[in-house]
Amino acid sequence: MPALNYHHRNCGCSFCCQVELQDERAEELAQPLYCSGAVLSEALGELTVDQLAAMAQCMYAGDANGLFDIMLRAQDGYIKETIERRADDVNCSRFEAVEFWLTAYEATPAPVTRSWSAAA
Ligand SMILES: [Zn+2]
Repeated sequence: MPALNYHHRNCGCSFCCQVELQDERAEELAQPLYCSGAVLSEALGELTVDQLAAMAQCMYAGDANGLFDIMLRAQDGYIKETIERRADDVNCSRFEAVEFWLTAYEATPAPVTRSWSAAA
């Protein structure tokens, strides 16, 4: 997590607060990435055979929560990694990295809001 090198979580100084505020805004801005089929397709493509087997077993057992959990983690992890990688590569903020990927994926806001209670 390279971003953490530059500030301290819950530190409270104005610099750290600013970074955290920007991170929150970046998270909101990333909504279209979470609703993008192209992004989800790539995230699922990164799954290992073991992870896919766990998904298949959840489906067979009718374990919707288990299946959702695996998919959510895969998607969330993939998007966060993608954003961090871009921010590292060109040394930009996470906010700018999100803007870059929105353009790259041609992702536009979808008419749904995230149910944060579902995120682990
Ligand atoms: Zn600080």
